[in-house]
Amino acid sequence: LTFADFKLNKQLLNAVAEAGFEQPTPVQEQTIPLLLAGHDLLGVAQTGTGKTAAFGLPLLMKVKYAQGTHPRGLILAPTRELAMQIETHLKKLAVYTDLRILAIYGGLGPKTQIEALAAGVDILIATPGRLMELYLKGALVFKELKTLVLDEADKMMDMGFMPQIRAILEVIPRKRQNALFSATMPERVVKLSEEFLEFPMRIEV
Ligand code: AMP
Repeated sequence: LTFADFKLNKQLLNAVAEAGFEQPTPVQEQTIPLLLAGHDLLGVAQTGTGKTAAFGLPLLMKVKYAQGTHPRGLILAPTRELAMQIETHLKKLAVYTDLRILAIYGGLGPKTQIEALAAGVDILIATPGRLMELYLKGALVFKELKTLVLDEADKMMDMGFMPQIRAILEVIPRKRQNALFSATMPERVVKLSEEFLEFPMRIEV
């Protein structure tokens, strides 16, 4: 199996080649076709397995080109470091598209992030606390959101982000595609997945 076997466009295939990815990893092999087909997904996968591109490529494929001001894809991550890492990775994969990808996180003043949001964002990566903070300030509009990804869901719960995640689920459009990735599947992650995934396909690597 090669990346060309997936229904990805030329811009993405060129970026994948440029990134030096010769062959899909197991998590990519299983995840990419399911997400491209529009399924919700529950993925048990560790960091380092290639899960960012596994959810990133279908998301970039779906969002496709820059449009409007408000994000159409949202990725939640537990830490600033992971949010930045996802941003770097997706920007690399989106290098031949015009997509605007932005990460917002706590630890620095919100002003620059508010300005960047106002300039227009297609795919937003965020830590839950900062996301909710900027939403409550009126800096964020979710009405165009079509895809939600929760990355490292177990870690987000360990860090106490459940109230923010719940609040976010309350204010985003109901009709959307969802993916949840977690390194472990304790009962509370299973419960969260049951709450917001619709008929998820489950993959494990
Ligand atoms: P991740 O699990 O998404 O954090 O990815 C871990 C590392 O694997 C990153 O440095 C990626 O650039 C790299 N990677 C992802 N997919 C592939 C692939 N298909 N072939 C080679 N390296 C990859």
